Amino acid sequence: MLSIKNLQAGYGKVQVLHGISIEVPKSQVITLIGSNGAGKTTTMRSITGMIKPTSGQILLDGTDITGADSFKVARLGLAHSPEGRRVFSTMSVTDNLILGAFPRLTFSRPKGDVKGDLEKAMELFPRLKERRNQLAGTLSGGEQQMLAMARAIMLNPEVILLDEPSMGLAPILVDEVFRIIERLKSQGVTMLLVEQFAAAALAVADYGYVMENGHIKVHGPADQLKNDPAVIAAYLGGS
Ligand code: ATP
Repeated sequence: MLSIKNLQAGYGKVQVLHGISIEVPKSQVITLIGSNGAGKTTTMRSITGMIKPTSGQILLDGTDITGADSFKVARLGLAHSPEGRRVFSTMSVTDNLILGAFPRLTFSRPKGDVKGDLEKAMELFPRLKERRNQLAGTLSGGEQQMLAMARAIMLNPEVILLDEPSMGLAPILVDEVFRIIERLKSQGVTMLLVEQFAAAALAVADYGYVMENGHIKVHGPADQLKNDPAVIAAYLGGS
């Protein structure tokens, strides 16, 4: 579904990604874990076209999207829920969600039932439903994070990139976010999940990649990584 081959990217002269390869098969949850500054967010930004890779290839369902503009990538069905709380703060919750569907309304993607999808998104995130008319900027940080996720889902995407959906959330909301990821997974949604909570990410994922200094250090089925002594020592709080 999403295939990243030997990707190199960075900022100006600083190279951050030194040739990474990741496969995200249809209806699977793939997690990318690694310490701060490893290059996880840079990987996400390269996939969505926010930064242009210097070499390598990114294929979405067989279509080469390497270096394509973000809007084109969204139009082809790749949704991004970015790190931090990127919502349109002066718009209501409902309007933010409708905007999430915008790329599919204007171009060749199946338009589907936006109203129905809006209701489904509200069911998935009851906190947003209660606050549907509230301005997004007045939501709590955690609620804004959920809105960014719900807005990504409104694209009805082929693949969702989730960049640290649990960042800065209270533990109860972290649990809720992972429950939502589980539900999306059971609906067959394809996801690439970047997470600091490696244990929780590996619990929900089918397969994982561990990144260090812009390289993929180890990868394998999530169950295998959970039991890998080096992964446990570095990322799962073992010793
Ligand atoms: P974290 O878990 O802390 O978010 P990460 O694995 O997502 O880390 P990146 O955000 O991809 O890591 O950062 C990788 C490297 O690229 C870091 O050394 C960072 O300082 C650098 N970097 C990130 N964004 C920029 C930027 N806009 N300009 C220059 N360097 C950047």
